[in-house]
Amino acid sequence: MSKPSIIHMVDLYGQYFRIKDEIDTAIQDVIRSSVFIKGGKVNEFEDHLSKYLEAGVIACGNGTDALQLAFMALELQPGDEVITTPFTFVATAEVLALLGLKPVFTDVCPDTFNMDVSAIEAAITPRTKAILPVHLFGQSADMESINAIAEKHNLFIVEDAAQSLGTEYIFRNGEKKKSGAVGTIGCTSFFPSKNLGAFGDGGALFTSDEALAARIRSIANHGMKVRYYYDRIGVNSRLDSIQAAILDVKLKYLDQYVALRQAVAYWYDTRLAGIDGLQLPERVSYSTHSFHQYTIRTGKRDQLQEFLKSKGIPSMVYYPKAIHLQEAYRYLAYREGDFPVAEALTREVLSLPMHTEMDEGQLGYISDAVRDFYNSR
Ligand SMILES: *Cc1c(COP(=O)(O)O)cnc(C)c1O
Repeated sequence: MSKPSIIHMVDLYGQYFRIKDEIDTAIQDVIRSSVFIKGGKVNEFEDHLSKYLEAGVIACGNGTDALQLAFMALELQPGDEVITTPFTFVATAEVLALLGLKPVFTDVCPDTFNMDVSAIEAAITPRTKAILPVHLFGQSADMESINAIAEKHNLFIVEDAAQSLGTEYIFRNGEKKKSGAVGTIGCTSFFPSKNLGAFGDGGALFTSDEALAARIRSIANHGMKVRYYYDRIGVNSRLDSIQAAILDVKLKYLDQYVALRQAVAYWYDTRLAGIDGLQLPERVSYSTHSFHQYTIRTGKRDQLQEFLKSKGIPSMVYYPKAIHLQEAYRYLAYREGDFPVAEALTREVLSLPMHTEMDEGQLGYISDAVRDFYNSR
């Protein structure tokens, strides 16, 4: 197949271009009002996202801040332990370290790349206070099992839903909840390439606990109680009005964006099925998949990536090194071999181009290239 127009990992300009008039108008409205911080636009976006998720929403500066605000609001004490995954973006563990909490890692599943729930109970100690699952690449972790463990041991659940906005969790009784609205607090990111992306930084927390929501709001605003009176130490973390206006427009299209990503995934699934030594993304019964990434697993990862590059096809490794083996986290005293699945994944995963603007020419070209690679060896 001939090479189509340039292939991107993500195509943010293309996505903008389809709704340019709406976005441009929304930005102009904020400039005309000159309410750049807080005010109506941020409230409107929080309300709309809250309706979408069926949970309370507090907007903040970015996804990392959302995680930090969540753990500040839960009032954990230095030395308290939080069980999480070593196969994630660093922010998940970083905020724990910053707050003096101890990240305790458990291994992940070889097919979903999410927390292996069967390993959680063995990691619980008297100091364990919370479980922090990450819904990696857009598919939820097994929340019903995590909920059961959390209830039994009286633990909070903070969901890192930075990659799973628009995903639905499906309970065994058929009930559905939006990813991030299942645990005690959900955290997400509006980083431009995320499922719902701003034109800069942004983030949000979700919770149905009103007292907790009020505490989060106060902490995100310097710990203020009433104006210029502070009853706790807080931070400054807020979504600006231009980002809120852009996100409010794009939120209307979120389900459409997710459907487009799922269509791309289905296309890859069909074209790449049956290749020996190539593992395609697993689907589980308890979650939809919003395909923040389409991530394959192969023992020939580096060679495949080189081959694709030579054909003008970008690809990315999320993530090349597990957190427990990172220099910055050496103080936790983990070693190579502690989490064999996570470690193997760092050598074998590859994320293919995935975005809302891909066409069949590009997908055909990429799938043919992957097939050519395996046929030639
Ligand atoms: C993007 C991301 C974050 C952090 O979000 P920022 O908005 O970049 O701070 C946290 N966790 C995961 C899993 C992410 O993918």
